Amino acid sequence: MSPISAPSKRKPSRKRRTNKHVKADPSYRHVFDSAVIGLAIVDLDGTVRAVNKALCEMFGYSSDELVGRSFPVAMGLEGSPAAKIHLQLIAQEIDGFRTEIEYVRKDGVIVHALSTASLERDSAGRPTHFLSQIVDITSLRRAEEALRKSEQRLRLAFESTAIGFAVASTDGRITEVNRSFCEMVGYTEAELLNMRYADITHAEDLALIEPALERLHAVGTALQEKRFIRKDGLRIWASVGLGLARDGTGQPAYVLAQITDITARKEAEESAARRAIELEQSNSDLRQFVYLASHDLQQPLRGVASYGRLLSDRYGDALDARAARWISYITEGVDRMQRLIDDLFTLAGVGTDVKGFQPLSVDATVQLCWDTLVVANATVDANLTTTALPVIEGDAQQIELLFQNLLGNAIKYRRRDIPLEVSIAAERSASPLGPIWEFAVRDNGIGFDTAYRDQIFEIFRRLHSGAEYEGTGIGLALCRKIVERHGGRIWADSTVGKGSTFTFSLNEHRPN
Ligand code: ADP
Repeated sequence: MSPISAPSKRKPSRKRRTNKHVKADPSYRHVFDSAVIGLAIVDLDGTVRAVNKALCEMFGYSSDELVGRSFPVAMGLEGSPAAKIHLQLIAQEIDGFRTEIEYVRKDGVIVHALSTASLERDSAGRPTHFLSQIVDITSLRRAEEALRKSEQRLRLAFESTAIGFAVASTDGRITEVNRSFCEMVGYTEAELLNMRYADITHAEDLALIEPALERLHAVGTALQEKRFIRKDGLRIWASVGLGLARDGTGQPAYVLAQITDITARKEAEESAARRAIELEQSNSDLRQFVYLASHDLQQPLRGVASYGRLLSDRYGDALDARAARWISYITEGVDRMQRLIDDLFTLAGVGTDVKGFQPLSVDATVQLCWDTLVVANATVDANLTTTALPVIEGDAQQIELLFQNLLGNAIKYRRRDIPLEVSIAAERSASPLGPIWEFAVRDNGIGFDTAYRDQIFEIFRRLHSGAEYEGTGIGLALCRKIVERHGGRIWADSTVGKGSTFTFSLNEHRPN
């Protein structure tokens, strides 16, 4: 027999007194039975005298199964650490206790309970019985355990994520940081916990803190891109998401910051912006240069042209056929030079940014270009077909230049043995930036070797000789520049002897 169940020597007399007490007052009996916490009246020798309904339900026993048995044994405490305190109570070494105890239900399941036991006395101060009160806190313990596990998971996420986390008090003192944040700013956790959020903020971004706090107090969250200064003095860019936590009374408690290092992206953006400025500068320098150069080049060119004309007008009769041919070479050279200067001037005029975006009818533009070209090439047997062509937003002058060049090339690089057939098709597709139109200008001309499909868009790159097909090699470079300035791209396909297709995309609306 376990020491817990050993009967006390003074048992009989005390048992009688306890019984009398419980049975004496029916109102006590009612309170006892209907209490929501488990109650047991235990004789001074440890024998259960009475138990209430709540206690029976808590442990899965009927009252008959418990009454008359040793309390510690009946409650599954035998051999457990909790047995000791019960024995001390029964031995009256202590007057009572209040502690958490694990009891065992009838079905073997452990019940976590808050157990209070006290030695009761009569009016003369003589011990009469023990009163044991038991509250089942198993679900509370389970909830605590679940909470502990979820906290553990959160802590693990907090510690192991690549995102930096920092917790700061509402007056900006850093109170908690994770490993990623320490690595990001190059300080140890201990160093950061002695610092304020402002201490690691770039001087120029200190002004961002106040508005972020105002927003936090107003709407609870704030997002900003800002710079931190690392311990080694280096600057890093970060995207910081802030959240304000409030305490139970609704008062701001602390600020949680999630920090992602975006230095690489920011530096790429900064260098792209720098490049754009440099490019704009060099483009405007180039435009200026081309303008001046064309002006300066045209002066002597005009001189050469007019002296050539004078020579042939005044001395034409006196010159032999060879001299006349040489003079015609001079005039042709001058014309070609003039065209080159004009084309270069046009190319330089298409700036980095397309201004003057307006809705324009591609159909009307195509018709105008085609009509002009057909008039200029009256002897050519040519036919143009198109699908329905849309209205898009673009620079009308540049889009006209684009079609002028593509249709002009189709006529220029036609086959002489068959009538020229040109077709233009347009197809609309969706993109994240809005609807896009893809235009395909197809001819049945001489075609070109597709090994050169990229080179032909470079300036001065010509696949067909100047003697056969006159040109400056600037047209397609101009087309590419126009399309790219409109946010699209252009490419070519061809089969030698069969024809070529030039395809390009344009946004339906002006890109932002
Ligand atoms: P250019 O026509 O003044 O030579 P472009 O830049 O317009 O200059 O064209 C570059 C080269 O691409 C041309 O010299 C020609 O060899 C080739 N090319 C352009 N369009 C066509 C076409 N429709 N068919 C065949 N070849 C073409």
